[in-house]
Amino acid sequence: MCQKFFKLINKQEGNDILENKKLCLILLGAPGAGKGTQAEIISKKYNIPTISTGNIIREALKNETPLGLEAKSYIDSGALVPDNVIISIVKDRLSEPDCKNGFILDGVPRTIAQAQALDEMGVEINKVVSIEVPDEKIISRLSGRRVCNKCGSSYHITDKPSKKQDICDNCDGSLIIRHDDDPKIISDRLKVYHDQTEPLKDYYESKGLLKIVEGQDILEETTSLVDKVLRSE
Ligand code: AMP
Repeated sequence: MCQKFFKLINKQEGNDILENKKLCLILLGAPGAGKGTQAEIISKKYNIPTISTGNIIREALKNETPLGLEAKSYIDSGALVPDNVIISIVKDRLSEPDCKNGFILDGVPRTIAQAQALDEMGVEINKVVSIEVPDEKIISRLSGRRVCNKCGSSYHITDKPSKKQDICDNCDGSLIIRHDDDPKIISDRLKVYHDQTEPLKDYYESKGLLKIVEGQDILEETTSLVDKVLRSE
């Protein structure tokens, strides 16, 4: 899977013409660092799916499936869902045909065990981008975040408002406040991120895959920095 990374060979009117276009990307970063938003942009640009374990779990929760019921207590408290559950979700999703030309992993892996499981499955990642945002900014971002309860698109009341109040621009779904965007749970999620997910930076650095992007206040500026590292060898 994903043996060759794309090579930029030309650029015309903003449309990249790519050779060996196959991007298998992991987006790392704290909750609220902007992974979901950047994933949405990259997904459209490179025509590859985003696999967001958070969105898959929230959908399962909404539909009250066995997965949703199992995950509820973890997600509600800001704790991580057990690795075996996550690994099985990702394995199933990666085996779907739309992933054969590449994919973006958003919010997964979140532990070393999950990263090792991807390696054991033979998933060949060719880029890992960590979007870095200081904790104080994360707290302010997450407290103003609104998400679509239908398609999962993410907005912010001041930084990225929807065109119509509380209505998703993409699918007309309703925008809601995520239960885990409560200030107490945000601080627990940040702790979990620093303790369990941040060590993945060293894991992927040692494989020569890690690129760091400083998350900017202006969304397009972060997008342009991410784009730059995606094009770099
Ligand atoms: P997210 O939308 O990515 O911030 O995920 C929301 C919640 O879903 C997390 O706080 C976890 O409870 C759970 N979750 C999502 N992805 C993972 C993962 N890769 N490993 C463990 N738990 C996860």
